[in-house]
Amino acid sequence: MRGAVLYAPHDVRIEDRPDPTIVEPTDAIIRLSATCVCGSDLWPYRGIEGVEVPAPMGHEYVGIVEEVGPSVTTIKPGHFVIGSFFASDNTCEICRAGYQSSCIHRELMGRIGTQAELARVPLADGTLVATPDVPPDDLIPSFLAASDVLGTGWFGAVAAEAGPGKNVVVVGDGAVGLLAVLAAKQLGAERIIAMSRHETRQRLAREFGATDIIEERGDEGAARIKDLTKGLGAHSVIEAVGTRESMLQAIGATRPGGHVGYVGVTHGDLPGDQLFFSHTHLHGGPAPVRRFLPELIELIWNRTIDPGKVLDLTLPLDQVAEGYRAMDERRAIKPLLCP
Ligand SMILES: [Zn+2]
Repeated sequence: MRGAVLYAPHDVRIEDRPDPTIVEPTDAIIRLSATCVCGSDLWPYRGIEGVEVPAPMGHEYVGIVEEVGPSVTTIKPGHFVIGSFFASDNTCEICRAGYQSSCIHRELMGRIGTQAELARVPLADGTLVATPDVPPDDLIPSFLAASDVLGTGWFGAVAAEAGPGKNVVVVGDGAVGLLAVLAAKQLGAERIIAMSRHETRQRLAREFGATDIIEERGDEGAARIKDLTKGLGAHSVIEAVGTRESMLQAIGATRPGGHVGYVGVTHGDLPGDQLFFSHTHLHGGPAPVRRFLPELIELIWNRTIDPGKVLDLTLPLDQVAEGYRAMDERRAIKPLLCP
């Protein structure tokens, strides 16, 4: 099969890799209908996060089940399925509490690499959720978004306790930030303030439900948020970037007693005294996307939401290198790759 492999910073290639096979009796093999490049793929791509190379790349996937191991009972060949970046059993105590991305048996799909024609999915019954039927092609980008960015934005909004009567700030205008706007809207937030300096992203944020856009950052950004929230700060702030600056922006935008949902992979130390005196609730981490998949699949299947709009560039899988470049240079919000 063809699959993407990172050899060095800024050097990702498509090459022939061995076809995956059933290793554990709980595995499934899927043929990918679509895959994509994630903001978190850019950390190793840019050389900021060290990885052992050559490294297979990708952790977002939707596709048709080709084969299942002998212990798989609910997932069948022919199903169109969606899973998240952590495989999980969905039965342990941590999973049942809704934190499948910390499952005691979790396996990172990024190690397997889903920017490929085929992928092995461990713990198939726990990890994968099938759609009611094979979806029409136009829904595939939205289901692919559910595999990570939608589920992650959704968790950010839930962790920030976005809901009726709340004003919500979203820090970050990548795919996750934009879909956090969509999630806050679906959860009934009253006012949704998106922070973005890019016109096309601002437009999409408004389409997804943003009521206000703030272009300023840092102290100026914090001052604008205070202006829009009676001088108090927001009830709910979703951090969807992962830098020290964006995390401090998020904490600074939150009112005492408010909630920060942080879903950008945090890089850099945070000042303890600032955290202490902020009086905010901090909740975040790798999103337990699996918790939300059944609900998100239903919203997409019924065409209530259209999160696939964040996938604004479509390329054949063979052009994966161009996909990374376009995302790295912010020419694309998120590239969809067709195997
Ligand atoms: Zn578990």
